[in-house]
Amino acid sequence: FDIRERQSRESDKDIEKALRPLAFDDFSGQEKIIENLRVFVKAARLRKEALDHTLLHGPPGLGKTTLSNIVANELGVGFKVTSGPVLDKPGDLAGILMSLEENDVLFIDEIHRLHPIVEEYLYSAMEDYRIDILLDKGPGAKSVQLSLAPFTLIGATTRSGLLTSPLRARFGINCHLEYYDHEILKGIVRRSASLLRVGIADEAAMEIALRSRGTPRIANALLRRVRDFAMVKGNGFIDIAIARHALEALNIDRYGLDEIDNRILLTIIDKFKGGPVGLSTIATALGEDSGTLEEVYEPFLIKEGFLKRTPRGRETTDLAYTHLGRKRFDAPGS
Ligand code: ADP
Repeated sequence: FDIRERQSRESDKDIEKALRPLAFDDFSGQEKIIENLRVFVKAARLRKEALDHTLLHGPPGLGKTTLSNIVANELGVGFKVTSGPVLDKPGDLAGILMSLEENDVLFIDEIHRLHPIVEEYLYSAMEDYRIDILLDKGPGAKSVQLSLAPFTLIGATTRSGLLTSPLRARFGINCHLEYYDHEILKGIVRRSASLLRVGIADEAAMEIALRSRGTPRIANALLRRVRDFAMVKGNGFIDIAIARHALEALNIDRYGLDEIDNRILLTIIDKFKGGPVGLSTIATALGEDSGTLEEVYEPFLIKEGFLKRTPRGRETTDLAYTHLGRKRFDAPGS
C-alpha cells in the first residue's frame, strides 16, 4: 500500500503517542531530575514499596506526562491518568483510587485545578492510603473508611504557585522541569524523525530545534509539518532548504516565540518604553493573569535573553528590540 496514504491517516494524537519515550534511557534532557528519579525508583523497587508522591511542575509540553509514564514503567507498576478539572466529585476520585493496585502510579494532570472538596479527600488518601466515603445523604448519613492499596500520586502543574500548602506538603519529591537546550531538542527531533522514518539533515534538525520555544511538544509538531512539506514539495528528505522554506511558510518565529511572547515584549516596549515596569502592570495591560505571565511565559523570555528581571521591574533587552524591529529611543547613540 501507499505509505503516504497511510501516514496521512495517522492522527496527530497517535503520532504524539508513538513518539513518547517509554524508559529513562529514551528521555533526553532534565538530567538532574532523571538522575534523582532513577535513585528513588530503584530504592522503592528494592523495598517493594510505593514511590513517594511526586510533584512535577513546569511549562506545558516539557514532558511531565511522559516522565510520569516512564516512572510507572521503570517501577514496573500500572499507570492511571486523570486530571484536576475532570474530578468533579469526591466519588470520582474514590472510584479511581479504589481501582489502583499495589504501588501503582496515579497521574493527576493540572492538579492545581482540583476542586477543594476533592482535594480534601486526597489528603488522607495520600497520607494513610485511606478514604472516607459518605454513604447516603441527609441526617442518617454514615461515613465509612475504606483502605486503599499503597500508591504513588504524581501531580503535574504548570502553575505550582496556585497549589495549596497542605497539598504541596504531601509530596515527598518535587521536580521543576526546565526548557530544553537547542542541542538536546535537536536530538529529540532526530529521534522523532527516525521513529517517523523520515530522513533529516543535522542542520535541518537544528533549525527546527531553534524555533521550538525550548519545548519538545512544539519540536515534534513542527517536525510533522515540515515532513509534510518535504513529502509534497521535495523528495521526502528534510534538508535545510526545505526546513527553512516550511518554517517560513508556517510563519514560525525565528526564535520560537509565540504570539503571547511577542505581545508581552511589544507591550513593554510600546506602552512602557521598554521598562522597568512591574509584573502586575504588564499583566493588566495585556489582560492576562500575572501568575500565568510569571510562571508560564516569563521564564522562557528571560532564559533566551529577551527580558530581564530587575529590582524595579521587568525590562526588555536589546535583543527584543531588534527581533521586533523596534528602535530604542533612550539607547546611547540612537
Ligand atoms: P507535558 O505533560 O509536560 O505537557 P508531555 O509529557 O505531554 O508534556 O510531552 C509532550 C510531547 O513531547 C510528548 O509527546 C513527548 O513525545 C515529547 N517529549 C517530552 N519530553 C521529551 C523528552 N525529554 N525526550 C523526548 N521527547 C519528549
